Amino acid sequence: RPRALSGIQPTAGSFHLGNYLGAVRQYVALQESHDAFYMVVDLHAITVPQDPKELRANTRVAAAQLLAAGLDPERCTLFVQSHVPEHAQLAWVMNCLTGFGEASRMTQFKDKSAKQGADRTTVGLFTYPILQVADILLYQANAVPVGEDQRQHIELTRDIAERFNGRFGQTFTLPSAHIVRETAKIYDLQDPTAKMSKSSATPKGLINLLDDPKVSAKKIKSAVTDTDTVIRFDAENKPGVSNLLTIYATLTGTTVAELEQRYEGKGYGALKTDLADVVVEWVTPFRARTQEYLDDPETLDAVLAKGAEKARAVAAETLAQTYDRMGFLPAK
Ligand code: ATP
Ligand code: MG
Repeated sequence: RPRALSGIQPTAGSFHLGNYLGAVRQYVALQESHDAFYMVVDLHAITVPQDPKELRANTRVAAAQLLAAGLDPERCTLFVQSHVPEHAQLAWVMNCLTGFGEASRMTQFKDKSAKQGADRTTVGLFTYPILQVADILLYQANAVPVGEDQRQHIELTRDIAERFNGRFGQTFTLPSAHIVRETAKIYDLQDPTAKMSKSSATPKGLINLLDDPKVSAKKIKSAVTDTDTVIRFDAENKPGVSNLLTIYATLTGTTVAELEQRYEGKGYGALKTDLADVVVEWVTPFRARTQEYLDDPETLDAVLAKGAEKARAVAAETLAQTYDRMGFLPAK
């Protein structure tokens, strides 16, 4: 079975609709066809300031949401990144193989650091794509299910894996980004040209899966559209409506074409009201399932402990091989 690997940050507590449609849905699908490793990436979370108590709580909330979304610990390996020390260890090696200019070209870093200002931007934020390189290569992953915003980091991973293999001998599998075109980028409801994001500037544009469903319904109903009246998918000229159609089609398992037909001659109000109902119907049981996992932290922690053990077995082997190839003297 080919390997899959991905990770999601425990930063905001709740996942948002973009996380689910762009990434987590694909995690669930790939556990059927792949030997899949999924992790809550707490090491990535500390690239921006975190309150320790909240980080600890949010790590469990993230794991609970992954289970509620359909990850089955019998069919995939679910763990917390910091439970597997090899991530930080391999990241150092990868830091030493990455060019400063190469890292400086990462657009996620440029965007995020521009928002924060240079003095508040950590070196960790600068090197986080390289930690991601280590995350992926440790498991010899073939497929990496992510949203469009991560494509550049997967390209970087391939470049560095090739570089290592070229210099030190075949060691790492070259991974491919597994990006589902239709849902690769879910947009902010208030600014449908910007990615829906945990660190979103406009909370009104962000649908959090764990929010009160009434709040989410309201946000859908006040989504920014356009002054035209036709319900038609046109990402360029009608980004707001197109985003709503994508969300609607994916959550209900129908197609955009089918929706265009169903809403012919109807107004945006009808589309938004119906989509608000769809979202409420989806998030209500999702929240309940997440809460069930959170109500039983011993079981949740046991799942994560078992996951970490399985992950470490794979990661330790890759790290040992890497150290050996690089010429590190083995400890006796
Ligand atoms: P931040 O803005 O702080 O980076 P985030 O919203 O991007 O947070 P992450 O935990 O970094 O959340 O991303 C988890 C996964 O969700 C990644 O695979 C990412 O590509 C995907 N993702 C994030 N936002 C979207 C979106 N708007 N549409 C589709 N996929 C998304
Ligand atoms: Mg992100």
